[in-house]
Amino acid sequence: MNLVFLGPAGSGKGTQAKRLEADYRITQISTGDLLRNAVREGTELGKQAEPLMREGRLVPDDLVIGLIEERLARGDIENGILFDGFPRTLPQAEALDAALTRLGLKMDKVISLEVPEEILVDRVTGRRSCPVCGSVYHVRTRPPKVEGRCDLDGTELIQRSDDTAEKLEKRLEVFRTEIPKVKEYYRKKGLLAEVDGTGNPDEVYERIRQAVES
Ligand code: AMP
Repeated sequence: MNLVFLGPAGSGKGTQAKRLEADYRITQISTGDLLRNAVREGTELGKQAEPLMREGRLVPDDLVIGLIEERLARGDIENGILFDGFPRTLPQAEALDAALTRLGLKMDKVISLEVPEEILVDRVTGRRSCPVCGSVYHVRTRPPKVEGRCDLDGTELIQRSDDTAEKLEKRLEVFRTEIPKVKEYYRKKGLLAEVDGTGNPDEVYERIRQAVES
């Protein structure tokens, strides 16, 4: 089964993608992760992407599409793929279809997690992360046992540099312009399922599972 997972920052996409990956034994491919790796490794692509990512702007389509084609060619996709954070533009969606067709594969479902913007702002600006183990907390809804310290390793929690209200606004602006076109593309193909992303993570996951199975 091949799925696309659409959702803005703070929609819970990352958390839910991990659960889908485990339950359905499919491989998660996240362009955000692939790009962050390229930046860490200091590749040519990483150098081009880094300033754009810092600003919450999109990396050009040809670079991202190239990255996805490279990842698909590496394999480990036999049980299915969960595309996370890709496609984010219409040309990316079209390129993905072409790449899957070349591999004799097809898209089965596109899940769009729907969360009102005021909830996104609260989730993202209240988010605190452990820079060592990656655990994620929220100052109000999921506080650590000791204020400002990771429950698992006691490290001082940080606010990610792109989790501020200002950076989030930029990320949402990009999302608002591009994603409706991507959704329309998949709606016309009868693949789009819009899922309510509000409520606790278990409730949201159950809705996603039902959408995937329907
Ligand atoms: P994410 O972790 O998915 O929020 O991605 C982090 C950043 O990587 C984004 O803000 C963009 O700058 C860049 N990025 C990730 N995926 C894409 C994509 N499909 N197209 C363009 N830029 C992307």
